[in-house]
Amino acid sequence: MTKKVVLATRNPHKAEELSRILNEQNINLEILTIDQFPGAPEVIETESSFVGNALLKARALALHTGLLAIADDSGLCVNALNGMPGVLSARWSGAKENIDEENLKLILKQITDVPQVHRGAQFVCAAVAVFPDGTELISEGTVEGEIIQNPIGVNGFGYDPIFRPSGSEKTTAELTPAEKDSISHRGIALRELAIELRNIIS
Ligand code: IMP
Repeated sequence: MTKKVVLATRNPHKAEELSRILNEQNINLEILTIDQFPGAPEVIETESSFVGNALLKARALALHTGLLAIADDSGLCVNALNGMPGVLSARWSGAKENIDEENLKLILKQITDVPQVHRGAQFVCAAVAVFPDGTELISEGTVEGEIIQNPIGVNGFGYDPIFRPSGSEKTTAELTPAEKDSISHRGIALRELAIELRNIIS
């Protein structure tokens, strides 16, 4: 039987990646998005951890829709910035327009003088599933890499053009969607979540 699941994100890039990865997990899911539920609450991400914020978003949507809700909270953690922007990644620059571009420009500016050897960073993702009965599943994924000097690539979103995964010669913005999913923090977290979901749903 097909199970309805609603994704707790208004970021179209994240919704696309989440759907793409979930669709490959051999679970009978009908994937809906938050935009299909007018009046769904706007959740303010007040927690200081990715898991905490993901749970806030999924719990609110499961309550509102009465459906299984999946949320991811994710971000870029830069070693030279003591792990920032972290949970503040989405609005790091505070820009009103071209937010993704302004965010990555700000990171490049903040670490201008940091030599390449100290430009280590991670993309981190917490993926959670919350069932209407209160059952909660949690998983996390991390991809290690470094911040390069100038943006390269047009795929993906957010900080992808300045993030080069360890062992890769390309940024995540130069990878195909399938290549990114295979190594990404979101891919890792969701594939693990899917194992637990499959046990409960099927
Ligand atoms: P969230 O909606 O609070 O989880 O915000 C996540 C933010 O982290 C995004 O808006 C991006 O700025 C950044 N981010 C998360 N995952 C990725 C990714 O896969 N590539 C590039 N940037 C990402």
